Amino acid sequence: MEEQEKLQFQTQLLELRARTQKLLEEKTANPLPEPKDEAELGSAALDMALELSSKKVLKETLEMIEKALKRLEAGIYDICEICRRKIPLNRLKTIPYTSYCVECQAKIEEEKGK
Ligand SMILES: [Zn+2]
Repeated sequence: MEEQEKLQFQTQLLELRARTQKLLEEKTANPLPEPKDEAELGSAALDMALELSSKKVLKETLEMIEKALKRLEAGIYDICEICRRKIPLNRLKTIPYTSYCVECQAKIEEEKGK
C-alpha cells in the first residue's frame, strides 16, 4: 500500500473515531430508546448508520477503528486477518475499519447467526 493511501485511510479513520466517540457521548448524555443492534453499517450510508447505531454497536465500531489504526501502523492494514489475502481497496474505502475480506466477513456473520 502506498504511503499516500495509508495517510488517507489514517485521516479517514481518525475522523471516524472522533465522530463515533462524539455520538457515543451524546447517546450516553441523552439516552433515547435504543435501536436494534442489527443496524446495517453499509457502504455510502456509513454516517447515517452510525447515527442510528446503538451504544453497543458504537463501542464495537470504536474498537474496530482502534484496531484498524494499529493495523495501518503495522503495515498489515489491507491483509485479511483470517485468510491473509489482500482486502480489496474498494472494500476498505467503504468500511475503513474492517480487518476481513468479504468472504471471511460472510463466514463470521454466518457463524454469528447460528
Ligand atoms: Zn479473508
